[in-house]
Amino acid sequence: MTTGNDHTPSMRRRGLLIGTGAAAVAATATAGGIAAAQTDGAAEPAVRLRWLGTNAWEFTTATATVLIDPWVSRFPTGAYNPEGADPETEIEVHEDVIDEHLPKADTILVTHGHWDHIADVPYLAKRTGATVLGTETHLNLMRAMGAPEAQLSQVGGGELYQFEGYTVEVFRSSHSAKGGHKQIEFGGTRPGQIPKEPKKIKDLVEGGSLTYLIDFGGVSFFNAGSANFHEHEIAGIRPTALFLQPGGGHTPAYVERLLEVTGFPPYVIATHWDNFDHPLTEPGVIGGDWKALRDRVAAASPDSEFLLIDHLESHDF
Ligand SMILES: [Zn+2]
Repeated sequence: MTTGNDHTPSMRRRGLLIGTGAAAVAATATAGGIAAAQTDGAAEPAVRLRWLGTNAWEFTTATATVLIDPWVSRFPTGAYNPEGADPETEIEVHEDVIDEHLPKADTILVTHGHWDHIADVPYLAKRTGATVLGTETHLNLMRAMGAPEAQLSQVGGGELYQFEGYTVEVFRSSHSAKGGHKQIEFGGTRPGQIPKEPKKIKDLVEGGSLTYLIDFGGVSFFNAGSANFHEHEIAGIRPTALFLQPGGGHTPAYVERLLEVTGFPPYVIATHWDNFDHPLTEPGVIGGDWKALRDRVAAASPDSEFLLIDHLESHDF
């Protein structure tokens, strides 16, 4: 599954990597770049998008910070080894790393319950006071890890919520399947009552999957945390940018159908392609083949711009 230590210098040379780097981001942000863009254009608020590895994304406007699947603790599990992640791996929450990379959050969107999506959310929610959206199972798992009850918003798909300066629409989805019997890794749900505190990664069950359309007014983003989607649920959405990840092998024409049902978006952003046994502070090491993904996008939607944003780099919309 993994192609080894395939770092990304060739991408930089070809100019596919788009972003300003962490230092430049901080400088621009303190210079008021986002606020200026917003007051000039009125109808088109600027959004700064930053990648924190896996499917962890930060959306920043002049007034809000939205996070999807914010996971930065990145303890090794062997997820991209041929035998897959070791289910007995102990969950680690590195609060110092979370504090360093995720200073703010108003809203946290959870796509599913796996460790590489939710393990850092309980601590982050407590520290930031953010609203957290997820299924009953996601919320129960996070309650068991100490997430503050008053901030948890149970969703199931179909909700459209107004926040200050943006809306979030929630859609039902499914996780990608694996193996000969189309099974979901660490599948299952934890409804009804709070389970025992999750200690190992296998304790963080998938718990149903959700996708999100985040609309900031002039620009919108559609994100699925796993390589799957429900075509009829999302029919008619027209995001500015679609997040796509390698995988989806059990779903016929996964990439091509998702591009079509979302109206061939102007931007496609590669996500969840890095081998997360490697550090966030270094360029992403390929875990899933983004090059094959890029080629399929180019063939199916030649007018879409394919964005590969590296670790801790950002792109302004
Ligand atoms: Zn997953």
